[in-house]
Amino acid sequence: MVSARSARTWPICTAINEREGCVMPQGPEGAAGVFRAEVRSVTPIAEGMVRVVFGGDGLRGFSSTGVGDEYVRLHFPPRGQRSVDVPSPEAMWTSSDGGGVSDKRTYTIRSVDPTHCEIAIDFVMHGDGLAVRWVRQAVPGDAVALNAPTGLYRPPIDVQWQLLFADATGLPAVCRIIEQSPPTVRTRAVVEVASPRHVPALASARRPEVTWMYGGNGHGRSRLEQAVREAELPAGPGYVWVAGETSMLRAVRKYLRHERKLPASAYKAVGYWNFAADEYRARLAALDPATRVWLESALDGDGDEEAQTDEYVARLESLGL
Ligand SMILES: Cc1cc2nc3c(=O)[nH]c(=O)nc-3n(C[C@H](O)[C@H](O)[C@H](O)COP(=O)(O)OP(=O)(O)OC[C@H]3O[C@@H](n4cnc5c(N)ncnc54)[C@H](O)[C@@H]3O)c2cc1C
Repeated sequence: MVSARSARTWPICTAINEREGCVMPQGPEGAAGVFRAEVRSVTPIAEGMVRVVFGGDGLRGFSSTGVGDEYVRLHFPPRGQRSVDVPSPEAMWTSSDGGGVSDKRTYTIRSVDPTHCEIAIDFVMHGDGLAVRWVRQAVPGDAVALNAPTGLYRPPIDVQWQLLFADATGLPAVCRIIEQSPPTVRTRAVVEVASPRHVPALASARRPEVTWMYGGNGHGRSRLEQAVREAELPAGPGYVWVAGETSMLRAVRKYLRHERKLPASAYKAVGYWNFAADEYRARLAALDPATRVWLESALDGDGDEEAQTDEYVARLESLGL
């Protein structure tokens, strides 16, 4: 789960912004921090993965953090409609009906093209959720809303090596992190996709630093946790970045933090999706108001972020979530 805290600007992001950030030419909706993005093209890039390129005047003023795993929330139109009203920035973090049925989903910005004022997002196609349903019928001219991006990838400033582990949903971020990393940082990535046909024929996905595993992704048991446990961590300042299904990610985070005892600066483990997501959202929405308020604010504030996450996850698990 991505918290409101994640929306802060972190010092390393600022450093990366200055080097690699990019701002689209300013447009009317930039000031609000929520943008209207029009579909330019819809292209399958592998089995089960579709790239949607968004552009249009509404994206003017969209400012990339330049961080490799930067993500936005996408607000989709109601069923049967081809466009959205642009909501307020606050509304991007809530469900339109105030309950568990959200019309927003979180996606990585795979690439930014400031010259043409365009961004690309790679959608993993699975099940019949809101986002996937929308992609299946998307055509040029359709529109979504999205908010300003946030990045979580924050390697130590003197990083010498990095290990990236992800399922298909983390592949866009893995590719972008690899493309943006200086050659002096030794990088290894392990990516789990459903089958060899699910590997995109893109240069960054085919680079020698990427090892492919097949399975997981809702098609079978994931072996990512095992891959993280078996990985040898080189000496020197390094970084482990992991993205995938949430329950697996919780186990990975516990391993890195409590068994390997890595400092918080040396890893980031982010849950990207949930099994039985609708059921999960409904159970969250059915919690008593005090518990919901606690969960919504548990990761805010200036305390020790990882200690707060420990407490937050323990509370979720005690609630059976
Ligand atoms: C920071 C961040 C970045 C992300 N970046 C990307 C990205 O670049 N590309 C991308 O495709 N996803 C990305 N995701 C994951 C994406 O937000 C979820 O997969 C989301 O749940 C998809 O929404 P949906 O409406 O299609 O399905 P939902 O309505 O959420 O779920 C419908 C059904 O599909 C299942 N499901 C959901 N996601 C998956 C999955 N990945 N594999 C198998 N079954 C699934 C659910 O368990 C449920 O049964 C990211 C998530 C986060 C937090």
